[in-house]
Parts: sequence; C-alpha cells; structure tokens
Amino acid sequence: MKDLLSDRINSLPVSQTLAMAAKTRELRAEGKDIIGLSLGEPDFNTPDFIKDAAIEAVNQNYNSYSPVDGYVDLKEAVCTKFKRDNNLIYKPNQIVVSTGAKQSIANIAQVLLNPGDEVLLPAPYWVSYSAIATLCEATYVEIPSSIENDFKITPEQLEASITPKTKMIFFNSPNNPSGTIYSEAEYRALAAVLEKHPRIFILSDEIYEHINYDSKPFSFAAIENMYDRTITVNGLAKAFAMTGWRIGFIGAPEWIAKACTKMQGQITSGTNCIAQRAAITALLAPVSKIQFMVDEFKTRRDIVVGLLRDIDGFKVNVPEGAFYVFPDVSAFFGKTIKGVKIENASDFSLFILEKANVATVTGAAFGTPNCIRISYAASELQIREAIKRIKDALS
Ligand code: GLU
Repeated sequence: MKDLLSDRINSLPVSQTLAMAAKTRELRAEGKDIIGLSLGEPDFNTPDFIKDAAIEAVNQNYNSYSPVDGYVDLKEAVCTKFKRDNNLIYKPNQIVVSTGAKQSIANIAQVLLNPGDEVLLPAPYWVSYSAIATLCEATYVEIPSSIENDFKITPEQLEASITPKTKMIFFNSPNNPSGTIYSEAEYRALAAVLEKHPRIFILSDEIYEHINYDSKPFSFAAIENMYDRTITVNGLAKAFAMTGWRIGFIGAPEWIAKACTKMQGQITSGTNCIAQRAAITALLAPVSKIQFMVDEFKTRRDIVVGLLRDIDGFKVNVPEGAFYVFPDVSAFFGKTIKGVKIENASDFSLFILEKANVATVTGAAFGTPNCIRISYAASELQIREAIKRIKDALS
C-alpha cells in the first residue's frame, strides 16, 4: 500500500533533527543512557512571567478561534519588538503570526515559489529549508562555505549562483547549524549583489537573534532597497525557551503577508490562542529578562569549543551565536575505529551514537557533509560527560 502515497511525500526526506530526537527517545526507552545533543531546544523552562500570562489567558476564557494572522494586540507587540530590537518599522497588517517559525517559512515558500524556481541556500543551512523548497517543486542551489572562513559565503559566490530562475535566498544569521553571525558590513556587501537583481526575495530567518555572544546580529530588511523584498522571520521558541508553544511570526510587505494569511487560513487557521496571549507578555518584556539563558549558553559554548579542540581530528571554529558547534570531522573519514569503517559524517554521527551514547546530527542534513552538529542546549555536566565519551570512543 505504501506505493499509494503521493510522489510529494515519497520524495520528502525525513527531518534529520527530529529523527535524531526520536531515535534518542527510542534508545532511552530501551534503557540506554543517551546524552542528547541533537535537538536545538533550550533546556530551560519557559520563564514564570510568561507562564503566568498563559494561565491568566486560560482563566479569561481565551478559547475561541483567533484571527488567522494573529490577535491584533500580538501583532502590535511584534511591531514593537521589530522597532526596539531591529530598527524595523512594520505595521500590524504586515505581520502574520504562525504555528512556529517553521510554518512561517513554509507559508512564504508556498506563496512565492513556482515549480522550477531556484532558491539559494548558503550552506550550511537548516534541514527544513531544502525540504520546504522541494515541497514547492522549486530547486535549491547550495552556496558552499567552509570552517576556514567561519562558514560565511562571499558576495562573489552569491553573484555566481544567481540565474534568471533565482527567486529567493534563505538567509539565516545567527546560523543553525554553524552559529555564524554576519556583520552589518557583510550583509551590506551581499545586499549590493542582490540590488542588481530586483526580482529576488530574501527570507531572513532571525530566530536565533537574541542568542549571540560576541557581536549583535543585523537584519536584511534594515538595508535600504532590501525592505520591500525581505520577509523577516522570527519567533519565540529559542530566546524564550518556548519551543513547544509554537509561535513564529513574519514582518513582510503587506501583499506577501496577505498571501500568507490566505494560505494559513486554508491549512491551520490562527495559531493556539493561549500561546498567542503569552507571546504578548514575552515580546513586550525587556530583553534583559532572558539574558541569564544567553549568559549560560555562552559559558557552555566556551566549554564545548575548548573540550572539542582537545580531541585529535576535530576542527572547531568559535561560533558567535545560536547554541550549536559545527566541527569538521573529515579527518576521520576513511578510518576504521573499533571495527567500524567511517566513510562520512553520517557514519561518524552514528558511530558516536552507538559507541559513545551521544546523539548529534550529521552535517549532510545541513548541506555540509564534512561536519556534524552538536547542540549545547544541555547542562554543563551533560556536555562534559558527552565530550569525554566521544573522546574515549575515538581513542
Ligand atoms: N530547529 C531545531 C533544530 O534544528 C528544532 C528541530 C527542527 O525543527 O528542526 O534542531
């Protein structure tokens, strides 16, 4: 019967981040002591002041459908956030609230891409970008980078990747999985290329915005001439430890926001009303309220980088944001360790799952097959133990 499934779903790869999380749960249920460093999910609880807002919303009987694009006062709060944090002026009719930034991205792809269009993906890129483009029957074009230049693409590479079919670029800084943050000057250099190609749209995924350590992220839409063709994506999951609440949002030209609302109206309607009410409180709170999590991530970043650099064969750069390290492990390819032949990053990731009981994600899922992604959204104790296990397994 499986062959009765649509070609669409048959050709869709499984999300490797979620697959690894499922595998971790499965192995734990079998009694294995797995340290999960695969999923990008803060290990903090949602702050109490946000939980209190949700409880109040329940008691105030927020139980009906919300407007498809979100409550007006939430959209106003999103505008306040964009102004305060990004110096971006959006009006509520340019905002659409969705069931996570993932749905925001899927909406945008659905409303802008036609079959045969090309989408540029600076690699490494988040696993679902390529899958979402494929679902829209678009072709994705990878623009490679390497650890030597901190996983940044150059304006020359961007220019060389553009064809008459290029419709969009999916840009993500701070980046998942590399933690790379582009500087304002680097944004402007890329924008100078895009200016010459006015029919290319920019999806600027800024979901890790607040999780930065050494430099502040910038926004594509803050560049003159880019605002009218940039869709700024953000959400609550990462900065506020609210992954399961599923609140994402966009700021976009009004005609694109309207199209996303139309799409969402046929697929999910407005997102969860309680989570929306809590999101207002989260967004309007001073950013200093979540700084303790960022500080903790920074401490862990330094620990992870230090410990990994101590393992022969790991090439590690210093990520400036998000909560991932993305080491190049290609030095292990072609080697046989403890009877296991390692040909690529997927073999390597599987090897450390089996021999060290540590879950990571292969870089192949992010378009960068020399690397693996390690999430340090885990306690310091777990991180230290995990890296010790990896080191022992490889020795
Ligand atoms: N974005 C997170 C990650 O990359 C959550 C899982 C997902 O949706 O991919 O791990």
